[in-house]
Amino acid sequence: MKKIIFLDRDGVINVDRQYVFRIEDFELEKNVIPGLKSLAKKGFEFIIVTNQSGIGKGYYTEDDFRTFNEHVISVLKDNGIEILKTYHSPFHPEGIGEYRKASPCRKPGTGMLEQAEQDFRIDRKTSWIIGDKWADVKCGVDFGIRSILVKTGKGGKRDKKYKPEKYTYVAEDLLDASQFITENEPSRELREKSKQWRNKLK
Ligand SMILES: [Mg+2]
Repeated sequence: MKKIIFLDRDGVINVDRQYVFRIEDFELEKNVIPGLKSLAKKGFEFIIVTNQSGIGKGYYTEDDFRTFNEHVISVLKDNGIEILKTYHSPFHPEGIGEYRKASPCRKPGTGMLEQAEQDFRIDRKTSWIIGDKWADVKCGVDFGIRSILVKTGKGGKRDKKYKPEKYTYVAEDLLDASQFITENEPSRELREKSKQWRNKLK
């Protein structure tokens, strides 16, 4: 079973410049590389889950998205970090043509995480989501994984309507988030399991 860190992209990995898709606008958010490296060292794998309503609204194309995303992934790779897969949702209720719909894949909907679970054997107990919007956090909470809001990017300022009652932590950035995760690893459930196992051996 894989323990996954679901990563929102814009405002978490790269600086969110409002519908960012041009490579010349790419800039890494602060502390991304050391944060992801320390998580990788602990055996976590990374999946990007990103709402891309800019496609649905006609601001840029699927190809523009793919080109920019491949750039993001190659920069991470150059720094020794692998991304298992990227899922994106191009839909929006105010989109155009076929993109105009309320999709369960658009966060806070859990569709992208459910798709990832079809593609990989994911352990929800040890997996997390990190995002800069409450919609990311709510998505994780509804999916049953621990959720962290980072103060980079939108920092939860724009969509408080999605703020769930229960969530795990608000972090300064990806490095702070990674420190919180590694300090709280293994999860309470796993610690409980290993205690039961140790008791059986007695
Ligand atoms: Mg974001």
